[in-house]
Amino acid sequence: MSQAESVLGIHHVTAIASDPQRNIDFYTGVLGLRMVKVTVNFDDPTTYHLYYGDEVGHPGTILTFFPWPGAPRGRHGTGQLTVTSFSIPEGAVDYWKRHFREHGITFKETDRKFDEQVLSFADPDGLKLELIASPEAGSREAWKDGPIPVEYGVRGFRGVTLLEEGYERTARLLSDTLGFRQVGEDDNRFRFEAGEDGLGTFVDVVCPPTVPRGLVSAGTIHHVAWRTADDEQQRAWRTRIAGVGLDVTPVIDRKYFHSIYFREPGGVLFEIATDAPGFTVDEPVQELGSALVLPPWLEPLRNDIQKALPPVRLAAVVRAAE
Ligand code: ZN
Repeated sequence: MSQAESVLGIHHVTAIASDPQRNIDFYTGVLGLRMVKVTVNFDDPTTYHLYYGDEVGHPGTILTFFPWPGAPRGRHGTGQLTVTSFSIPEGAVDYWKRHFREHGITFKETDRKFDEQVLSFADPDGLKLELIASPEAGSREAWKDGPIPVEYGVRGFRGVTLLEEGYERTARLLSDTLGFRQVGEDDNRFRFEAGEDGLGTFVDVVCPPTVPRGLVSAGTIHHVAWRTADDEQQRAWRTRIAGVGLDVTPVIDRKYFHSIYFREPGGVLFEIATDAPGFTVDEPVQELGSALVLPPWLEPLRNDIQKALPPVRLAAVVRAAE
């Protein structure tokens, strides 16, 4: 079996929210992502699992949440993925500044090397996000039936930032095991890339001198998943990761993809997820995210599950103003 030289970039990022309705309103109503799937946490069916992305939820566009109503805020710190960055087209920055002002969202323009215009902001739970204007954004389509005019819309991920106590072991895992290339450096920020098209392919490792460890709760990231093409490649990844002495789970069926999980040496939970079968496996494209979907093994419990979940209003489809 031949092993791919690298993971193919980001598959999805999963975070913790508090109030599910506020989460839905922000990601569909303000950021203009599509609600791609409404299901439950398969490991805890009393919690929603909300998936946002592009029209079909392509790998590289998917941000997902476990909303824990009433959960206290977590703490951003080392051993965490602290910033999730989306791509927007190069001409879209002024539009987003106006849009954020209209919605009362505080943002700042961050200067960075790597030739990037960056808008930094946070979601209602304090999750740190960025919009980065990038030349590659044009090659991907934004969700066309959301509130953001399609020419300015979010084009999936640009990259993620890992905050780490130390550099060496995480950097070695990224380059020697997962196949990332180191492509840049800006002060204590080290940029790695895997995959080809610049969309969802970057990982920045930032090593601050004295920052306490992060704590997972509302407004923090739970894990990041990297893409692999298929089940055969995934088995090869599993062998390679176990081979460097990391504890890796067996392959787990997540219905929309197949997953393995392991913790990188700095403490961030990594997953490797297959591109297939994708989100249209149990709903047609037009209906994605329009109703609660359960996997076959939870379907017999639907009534009890629905009673335990807080009621939510799903995304109203608002056409972009022409
Ligand atoms: Zn995941």
